[in-house]
Amino acid sequence: MNKVCLGIDLGGTFIKFALLDETLRMVGETASVPTPANQGAGAVIAAMVAGGKALLARHSDVKCLGVGIGSPGPLDLANGVVIGMPNIPGFENVPLRDRVGAGLGLPATLENDANAAALGEYIAGSGAGSKLLVMLTLGTGLGSGIIIDGKVLHGAHGIGAEVGHLIVEPDGEPCGCGQRGCLERYSSATYLARRAQSLVESGRASSLAAVLKTTGQITSLDVLRARNAGDALAAEVWDRAIHLLAIGCVSLCRVLDPDLIVIGGGMAKAGDDLMVPLRQYVQQEHWKLSKLAARLELAKLGNDAGVIGAAGQAWAVFH
Ligand SMILES: [Zn+2]
Repeated sequence: MNKVCLGIDLGGTFIKFALLDETLRMVGETASVPTPANQGAGAVIAAMVAGGKALLARHSDVKCLGVGIGSPGPLDLANGVVIGMPNIPGFENVPLRDRVGAGLGLPATLENDANAAALGEYIAGSGAGSKLLVMLTLGTGLGSGIIIDGKVLHGAHGIGAEVGHLIVEPDGEPCGCGQRGCLERYSSATYLARRAQSLVESGRASSLAAVLKTTGQITSLDVLRARNAGDALAAEVWDRAIHLLAIGCVSLCRVLDPDLIVIGGGMAKAGDDLMVPLRQYVQQEHWKLSKLAARLELAKLGNDAGVIGAAGQAWAVFH
């Protein structure tokens, strides 16, 4: 009988499911159900359990050894507890690992969603064969995960690899973590859009003023389009976001010496408009003692990275 581990990736909009076999290859297809985000933790956990059972029922020829859960945080990894979840209300101090595990009758492990995505890219995406991979996910915030020799880096207290909270500007923009000037307040899709909007609202001339008037909100895609059409303010905001992201990447190179930095999340859809200036800025800010050895690549798996990594983490724990 084919041994598998189940991965469940809990997102604000969808819950994804996948099975990985012993060679970390996917068995069948991924599955997904909408997240009942406004029905409370009980409904969300019930949907996770039901979806996991449904996927396993479609593969009666497998033996499932355990379930890996990828979840937004903050998390208490040692105890498998969700401390809180900005996008899904009602998740304060919920023992997600044990409740999903009990529902499925399987041993369970809980992993931060950004760490799971990094592990997913290592297993099946851009990171195959990488010795030290850093993944940065640019979206609502700036998520990150670090994989060393195929293992997730957690740090001594389970709160390591938070690249989004590297301080890049002392006394800078206030951050949800209680500090100021964190990288995610400059280089995530949400905050670069917010920066452009506040400059437009302060009276700076830009074609984005018309966008704001029509839609009521400037998005990172609006900023990119305006930048590519020659708008100076949009170019300035885009450029600064990428320059600071590059400084974050160079700091990672100084500390960790990665062979690969993978860029994912919604903003990665910008492709070369992101990667070309990012590589240039990383070259510019890289020290002159040795050539840049880290590659910077786009993520390959898109939304599947988290669920593959969650199942991969279950294999790491329950093999
Ligand atoms: Zn912060």
